[in-house]
Amino acid sequence: MKLLLWDIDGTLICSGRAGEHALIRAMKMEFGVDITIKPLELAGRTDTYFFGQLLKRHGLSYDLEAIHSLIEIYLSHLPEELPKRPGKTLGGILPLLEQLSRREDIAQGLLTGNVERGAQIKLQHFDVWKYFPFGAFADDSHLRNELGPHAIRRASDFHQFDFTPEDTFIIGDTPYDIECGKVIGANTIAVATGSHSIEELQSHEPTAAFADLEDPTLFLNLIDNSPTLTPT
Ligand SMILES: [Mg+2]
Repeated sequence: MKLLLWDIDGTLICSGRAGEHALIRAMKMEFGVDITIKPLELAGRTDTYFFGQLLKRHGLSYDLEAIHSLIEIYLSHLPEELPKRPGKTLGGILPLLEQLSRREDIAQGLLTGNVERGAQIKLQHFDVWKYFPFGAFADDSHLRNELGPHAIRRASDFHQFDFTPEDTFIIGDTPYDIECGKVIGANTIAVATGSHSIEELQSHEPTAAFADLEDPTLFLNLIDNSPTLTPT
């Protein structure tokens, strides 16, 4: 079996910055602070890391209790923000997930910087939560590089199969996704559907990089170790 571990924002979906707007509202409501978030600041980071950085930057307490209380308020705003924003599943993702879900030799889970409930709210909004019975989340660690082993352990428990990093493909849109795969010796697939160009992603030497997943042929060839692989 092969294990595919998917990043969320910029890889499966674009939330139209719903997450950022929920966080901006949470900071205003809880602390009376007006904040701005640059698009690249959040990309590839975990919520627990970024929320802590945000509190610190504004001179606020940033211990675990403060971070968790900010997360709770963020999560309360997220379901309202998603329908207001021009979000979407990214090109090719829906048919690809559906196709992969029908294969007995493929396991799919999440490896994301979202906290689990945030991931669930976002992916249920786009009706793709159903494809991911397990995952690793910002609840597991504020360091993305530590998430891989959690995801592989949960995949192995769920499928009663001992997945190894060599069987695993970590798919994401930022250099942080590539790095967190490399630190455990997993295969890494970069997609330039988020905040980074394909040239920038390629400079971090993933196993393969794709402009998008509109044509799944090369992606599926890579997973199946086809000798015809010619990554774009
Ligand atoms: Mg991402």
